[in-house]
Amino acid sequence: MISIVEAKGPAKQTPDKGVKAPQIEFVEEVFVDYKTPTHAGPGPHPTTESDDFSLTMGGISWIVSTTTKYKIEGGEPVSGANTALEAAEATWDGFVNPANFVRNDADPSPNPCGGSNRIEWGLIDGVGNALAFASVCRNVVTKEIVGFRMKLDTSETWSTNTPASDLDVENVASHEWGHVAGLGHTNKPASGCLTMYNFADDGETQKRTLGLGDKLGMDTFYATGITGPGPGCGF
Ligand SMILES: [Zn+2]
Repeated sequence: MISIVEAKGPAKQTPDKGVKAPQIEFVEEVFVDYKTPTHAGPGPHPTTESDDFSLTMGGISWIVSTTTKYKIEGGEPVSGANTALEAAEATWDGFVNPANFVRNDADPSPNPCGGSNRIEWGLIDGVGNALAFASVCRNVVTKEIVGFRMKLDTSETWSTNTPASDLDVENVASHEWGHVAGLGHTNKPASGCLTMYNFADDGETQKRTLGLGDKLGMDTFYATGITGPGPGCGF
């Protein structure tokens, strides 16, 4: 069973409430992420970091002793894109520690919601609108996250440059890994610097680094003790 827990943006979607089936043990939660709508104008540029965060399904997390192997499939759209996916993973690894994510294209570990843990480069909905999605597979009994998948839309023009010339792979992927780690969206204007802010745009790189709210969210799950600000805004 798949339920869309958040789907904000131009292509508004209706949550699929699904069918109640008490014997289901694993449920997939999907987050769809959109480009900043043109009618919204330039994205917010706060000068301080918000402490805002949200927890997926009220709080689900990985078992901290788990190592999760994932594969990357589909051709990378620009040189260095897969390296950027791994860099985004490394940004979060330290916060989920000692659980970690390890790329292993030949032998990814199974996702109980289907297939294996994976990141895919592929078509989603053409240029603009949805840029990527991420899902976590949760055990409804234990509230543990037991699998994930992620997809990035190859219809977009991606970049791995600094400064980013187009849609920055690490910027978007860092946000998606935040969903994998267990965080939902924060959409207040003051949260524009945070990695878990729910829109991304061309040239943006501030989501590469975690902000105050992102860190506080992770401390809630994993008792990281890392609760200071920045450099979420990149300054
Ligand atoms: Zn998102």
